Amino acid sequence: MKTHRFTVQAAAVLAMVAVAAAQTSESAADLAARYLPDLIRLDSTNPPGNETRVARYLKQVADREGIAAELLGNDPQRLNFVARLRGSGKARPLLLIAHSDVVPADRSQWSVDPLAGILKDGYIYGRGAEDDKNLLAAELAVMVDLHRRKVPLDRDIILLSESDEEAGSLGATWVVANAWGKIDAEFALNEYSYILPTKSGVPVFQIQTAEKVPTRFKMTARGTAGHGSLPRDDNPVLHLARAIAKLSEAVEKLHTLPVPLPALPTVAGPSGTTIAATDVTGSVSPQTPSKAEAKPEVGRLPTVEGWVLRDVAYGGALIQSRRGLYEVYAGDMVPGLGHIDAVRRQDGHWVVVTSRGLIVTR
Ligand SMILES: [Zn+2]
Repeated sequence: MKTHRFTVQAAAVLAMVAVAAAQTSESAADLAARYLPDLIRLDSTNPPGNETRVARYLKQVADREGIAAELLGNDPQRLNFVARLRGSGKARPLLLIAHSDVVPADRSQWSVDPLAGILKDGYIYGRGAEDDKNLLAAELAVMVDLHRRKVPLDRDIILLSESDEEAGSLGATWVVANAWGKIDAEFALNEYSYILPTKSGVPVFQIQTAEKVPTRFKMTARGTAGHGSLPRDDNPVLHLARAIAKLSEAVEKLHTLPVPLPALPTVAGPSGTTIAATDVTGSVSPQTPSKAEAKPEVGRLPTVEGWVLRDVAYGGALIQSRRGLYEVYAGDMVPGLGHIDAVRRQDGHWVVVTSRGLIVTR
């Protein structure tokens, strides 16, 4: 995105302490507004990450405030940060999460320096101002504010800032495998979903409980190497391009599937399963190569586990799922898919509805 602003997402966390914060000289909102430009100026573009810069900053703040905190991880350049406020232990901990890396910013696409953390017209601009340093600043501010005001807590509050969220999830994976006890909590709050103001004054709280699951695969087309002046029918670049186009069109159908929302809690809606053609290689000008490759990424809804291949006799459907090939009929129990509530034709698609809210279509 071209410009970024301090979003209502951060405000969501700040709202947690807004009432009490007004009683202190420096509110949680003031703290967050101070931390955010600092965090933006620490270049943690992934790749390569260098998230230790962010982790060190967080540690400095925590040390200054007297909050117990530590840096964790196995790559000195890519450390994670964990801090904890102690509660009475009456309830299990609440975990606040915000990743410390940001995706690369193309300077030519920006109206300001993306790493300058500039305040302009009442907005903070910069890479990470919306994903995810805004949330990190807000959560850090919440920790500091609670600690300064010595708010009695029923549960521990843990802040985790993990590295490499945008690429390989190395940080979170390491912490889960090696330091689970330090982040073990009853529930966690993480990025995305917003509080939206409305004209009526009643705010709308969006709740996101899951994200699309990336499924990466490699497509290889083979042909005969030759010279660009003599195009051949088996040019692998051409074949690959056609295959990518077909895949994209097939997934488009999932987007536009009209779904009876009230009956189905989880559906392939407008932000349903997607496919992005990424990392295409092949051409060697002026020669045509013998091989072309693409690494498309399918963003699969957590509930979408397969596709209907075709309808079969007596109102059934053939499903290709991650667990295998199934012929299903309404009333069946299918491993991994649950109870098959319905198999039907709808608006030109075959739809299978399962007890898990699954929709598979083609
Ligand atoms: Zn993010």
